[in-house]
Amino acid sequence: MTLNGLDNASIDKDYIQSLIQSILDNNHSLPQKRKIRVYPDRLNFSCPICGDSEKVASKKRGNLYFKNMMYICFNEETCSRSFTKLLDTFNIQMDIEKKIQMYQYIENNIQFQSNDEITIKSLDKLFDVNDLCEFFKRDKTRNLTNLQPLVRNSGVDMYVRNVRNIKFTRDIYEGVYHFNSKWSQPVMVFLNRMGDNVISMQIRNLLNGDKRYFKIMDFSYIYDMMYPDGDLDDQERISYNKLSHFFNIFNVDFTRDVNLFEGYIDSLSIPNSIGQIGINTDIGFLLNEDGISLRFIYDNDKAGFNKSQKMLKDGHKVFLWNKFFIDLLKKHKGNKKELAKKLKEEIKDFNKLSQKFKKPLYEIFNFDQYFSDDNLDKIYFMDLDNLLGMI
Ligand SMILES: [Zn+2]
Repeated sequence: MTLNGLDNASIDKDYIQSLIQSILDNNHSLPQKRKIRVYPDRLNFSCPICGDSEKVASKKRGNLYFKNMMYICFNEETCSRSFTKLLDTFNIQMDIEKKIQMYQYIENNIQFQSNDEITIKSLDKLFDVNDLCEFFKRDKTRNLTNLQPLVRNSGVDMYVRNVRNIKFTRDIYEGVYHFNSKWSQPVMVFLNRMGDNVISMQIRNLLNGDKRYFKIMDFSYIYDMMYPDGDLDDQERISYNKLSHFFNIFNVDFTRDVNLFEGYIDSLSIPNSIGQIGINTDIGFLLNEDGISLRFIYDNDKAGFNKSQKMLKDGHKVFLWNKFFIDLLKKHKGNKKELAKKLKEEIKDFNKLSQKFKKPLYEIFNFDQYFSDDNLDKIYFMDLDNLLGMI
């Protein structure tokens, strides 16, 4: 089997149109209803499921959107479904190579912007937060039980507020994670959601170092557990799971600067941030979108500096820890060398930084000035001590 066309990860629009055409030819008797209007972003046609308008034969309320290959009918909501399901509805087989090519395309091109109605309309399978709490209430075989909003002064609540010093706790729930029938631990549960609609959860215990444990329950993992006989198809799986790995993606405003953190706890430190979760976080799809301004924040350590330096070189905006530290040091009245050592050793990430202050960080600092896409600023990847010697 050859996989031609995979390189540019495009879809064969002519082929897709031919499949739609055969559906229309077999299901509409009026020639006018069989005509497809081709737009750059979609195919527009008379819905073959509900039959579309009975009165006006020229009405075309069915739309197949190329960007996510979702079919939306504006005549009858229940007609809307993934393209692969639309084909199934009419027993049409898709060529296997074309199908793989299409999945690849969806994976690489999936986008999400808060103001994007079509994508939101397509995400109709998200879990209701109350259903989730009910499902993860007491059955230990599901690993997670007692899922609920933070309970005032519970162990998890105290950890979140006092140890982690997290101020923005709306999306943090608590629960108990069962490693087996005898061994369990309290956990924080980070909900990746849009209002009451949840796409994925990240579970994290309250321990550090070797005892740290976290688990990602992405969309299809939860869906398969809740609906073993469900009808989630591969196309939907790809789209939902992809978004599952970007914490808070539903709540950011893409018309402003969007901060991209490596982890989800850090992303709670400053507004309009996304936390990348797990290994499956290819951000190519965000980088490809026009008009989105991304700012990358990596940890204050060697690995983080290496990544930042590479991103800076590639023309992306990165957070310059040392530029920020130098400003702090300039204002510091005591021993600068000592403070520099502390900053370098203790402030490894934004959550650590948050823990040093009572007020939310963004009320204390204007971080905008510490982001840069100017390669000359690579000087800030020098050791902090050396930089300190230069000011
Ligand atoms: Zn319809």
